[in-house]
Amino acid sequence: MKNQMKQLVDLLNRYAKEYYTNDSPSISDAEYDKLYRQLVDLEKKHPELVLPDSPTHRVGGVLLEAFEKYEHRYPLFSLQDAFSREELDAFDERIKEKFPKASYVAELKIDGLSISLIYTNGVLEVGATRGDGQIGENITENLKRIKDIPLTIPSKESVTVRGEAYLPKASFNQINQERQESGLQEFANPRNAAAGTLRQLDTSVVAKRKLATFLYQEAGRSTKESQEEILSHLSQLGFSVNKKYLKSSSMATIWNFISEIADKRNDLPYDIDGIVIKVNEIDIQEALGYTVKAPRWAIAYKFPAEEKEAKILSVDWTVGRTGVVTPTANLTPVQLAGTTVSRATLHNVDYIAEKDIRIGDTVIVYKAGDIIPAVLRVVIDKRQQEEKMPIPTQCPSCSSALIHFDEEVALRCINPMCQSQLKARLEHFAGRDAMNIKGLGPSIVEKLFQANLVTDVLDIYRLSVEQLMTLEGIKEKSAQKLYDAIKASKMNAADKLLFGLGIRHVGSKASRLLLEKFNSLDNLSKASVDDIASIDGLGETIAVSVKTFFETQGSQTLLEELKKYQVNTVYSSSNDLEQILSGKTVVLTGKLQHMTRTEAKEKLIQLGANITGSVSKKTDIVLAGEDAGSKLTKAQSLGITVKDESWLQTL
Ligand code: NAD
Repeated sequence: MKNQMKQLVDLLNRYAKEYYTNDSPSISDAEYDKLYRQLVDLEKKHPELVLPDSPTHRVGGVLLEAFEKYEHRYPLFSLQDAFSREELDAFDERIKEKFPKASYVAELKIDGLSISLIYTNGVLEVGATRGDGQIGENITENLKRIKDIPLTIPSKESVTVRGEAYLPKASFNQINQERQESGLQEFANPRNAAAGTLRQLDTSVVAKRKLATFLYQEAGRSTKESQEEILSHLSQLGFSVNKKYLKSSSMATIWNFISEIADKRNDLPYDIDGIVIKVNEIDIQEALGYTVKAPRWAIAYKFPAEEKEAKILSVDWTVGRTGVVTPTANLTPVQLAGTTVSRATLHNVDYIAEKDIRIGDTVIVYKAGDIIPAVLRVVIDKRQQEEKMPIPTQCPSCSSALIHFDEEVALRCINPMCQSQLKARLEHFAGRDAMNIKGLGPSIVEKLFQANLVTDVLDIYRLSVEQLMTLEGIKEKSAQKLYDAIKASKMNAADKLLFGLGIRHVGSKASRLLLEKFNSLDNLSKASVDDIASIDGLGETIAVSVKTFFETQGSQTLLEELKKYQVNTVYSSSNDLEQILSGKTVVLTGKLQHMTRTEAKEKLIQLGANITGSVSKKTDIVLAGEDAGSKLTKAQSLGITVKDESWLQTL
């Protein structure tokens, strides 16, 4: 027994280090929780054998050396957890036995990273991680880069506020997409991506990754009488507070709330892993107190794991526009988090090797972040397959030799004429945030390549209506429409063109910054690395990438040809709208009737506005559409000018 407990402790401590310190777990939370429960049960039966380094006595993990340590004035705790209605009822009975009048607040359990913010004289002084609960890492500079954390609050007292920093699913998916294209290891889930980002030494990375927060607690003795009052007070101070909570004294009502949220969980823009139920009355909380690890007045109900077993039938290797070759497993179909899953990403060759995934294996599939299912691990006991997974040595599209660069986890096809890459590049070129050519989606691109009508982006400007009509399923009207859309794209702002060219690391924001400075693609093509890197918001990586692109054979010809087809390559000519919103910070919220949000954003940017995501004192104008929610309320409370869609149309 002693041995078994020791093994469990060692194993759990190793996993905790991978999870908390390295932000890179090797097992799922559900598997961790199962092992943890086993240890708790054994420790209950044999209290004399409890080991001093047992994770049941400790909060969090080991601290990173890279950051200064910060000793918390009030410790941060973990939460006792529950996996069933019975456990919640038992919790309820324990509380009600002593405090029959107790009520509860049930809040969403945000799957992020605990943070503590300390304000002195109304100014954010320190921001820290939970660490081991007593000592955390001082990550103030990084936390200041999160837009919804107020740098000042209207309170002169010293306030310590606690909550969760998280990465919205959309940002997580975008980061992983970019990491995949750059051949970097993808993050396992938004929680690890958030933790990895906040424990970065380069603050500009934090600024780029669009983290957000929900605050829910004031540390120390509260002057408020209930958790509900604390939430509303935090909101008044300017913190982002999650409004989706329920107050009730009945566990049956809370259970209904849990079921409701569990059903809607996949539609939320952020990850949650359960519901936290807290005693609402602060005096009862104080009377109940804490164990070594967690408050006695709260419990976290954890949702059942969204993991299933499936068998790998085959693997597809596909080439993206940057030449990265990605493996996707075809699976026996399984129901997972409300959808049927029959394909899952295997990330890259290193991942396959590390987990020793083979065709024919039974594997655990789970949903990471939003919609992309991934293979977590192999169920070794069910293995019948002797052979290792065959790794392609040739590009599945053009058959040229694949390269595995030393520092990358990805395999790459480096043939610039590879058909799959060319198709993916054209799809990107025509995409919404690039040249926005309506009608030129993946299926038409495929048909154009099949018919040998195009081989690269330039070819689309040579197409005639008649040629388009030769494609299967395209009649005169749609051919004309597509032709017009292609023609109209020539007048786009030049930053759309630059983004469309798909230069590594150059996203739509960088494209705009580059052209604001250099004004035309010609000028940009002659700029030095230092000139480019000196632009605020860009760095050496982007500068080198731009320089390399323009030095690559063929890029000058491409530029000349684009000009020959009268595609706009000059920023100011498409940007000659009077910049009447120059220097103004604008926030968009709610649904618009006559344009998409992207279109509205583009218009505002063309008019010189700086668009941000959250309302603060620095906001000049809030453009509110239908059903505008908390941003509008906040703008009104701060006395910020609110405009509607017709105002933008008039401009
Ligand atoms: P926890 O994450 O289960 O719960 C406590 C935390 O919940 C708090 O510290 C707080 O940060 C957070 N929280 C989110 N929303 C909240 C809200 N509304 N109110 C209060 N708190 C809220 O506990 P923990 O100690 O941080 O971590 C333990 C869990 O971490 C395990 O159960 C497991 O799921 C996971 N873990 C996984 C691995 C792995 O290898 N996969 C390793 C270690 C831990």
